[in-house]
Amino acid sequence: MKIKPRVGVDIDEVLVNQLEQAIAFYKLKTGKYIPLENFFSYNWWEVRGISKEESLKIDREFRFSTYFNKLSLVKGAKNAILKLSFSYEIIFITSRPFLIKKKTEDFIKKTFPDKQFKILFSNDFHIENSGKTKSEIAKELDLDFLIEDSFEYSAQSAEKGIKVFFLNKPWNKGATHKNIIQIKSWEDIFKKIK
Ligand SMILES: [Mg+2]
Repeated sequence: MKIKPRVGVDIDEVLVNQLEQAIAFYKLKTGKYIPLENFFSYNWWEVRGISKEESLKIDREFRFSTYFNKLSLVKGAKNAILKLSFSYEIIFITSRPFLIKKKTEDFIKKTFPDKQFKILFSNDFHIENSGKTKSEIAKELDLDFLIEDSFEYSAQSAEKGIKVFFLNKPWNKGATHKNIIQIKSWEDIFKKIK
């Protein structure tokens, strides 16, 4: 039973800027700088032009490097989440690998010390998590809406009848579905919430 209406919030590129640091780490490792605007896909290997295995290997290293420990917050995210949390139950749903589950939980605690937000880890096609996909979780939780930047997760959730606030990013242009509401920033949510 829901006590309050529920909002699902993605973590990477919605709460924190992960790719920004991944780009810096990739440059350190390979000497190649690929600006964020060039990420036409969030499958980073497609943009880097290397094999998926090679790419995931570098990403694993990145997640245990100091670069990963200094992810900045997406502009407006923290305040908006705190503001939403008065009227909504906030649940973070991420497809981050289980390998960094503890790190992720610690980060959320540190960012929201006075809150006890739930964090769920969803399954994904290219990582080793087992269990339900993000859209399955969204449906099961009967979310009132999801805040997401991934085209795939947004489309799948929208198909299942979940309303999605979809943050515009270079890798996700052009999602159209009646349940998908495109937003440019966190502040836009408050203009479009009702
Ligand atoms: Mg994301």
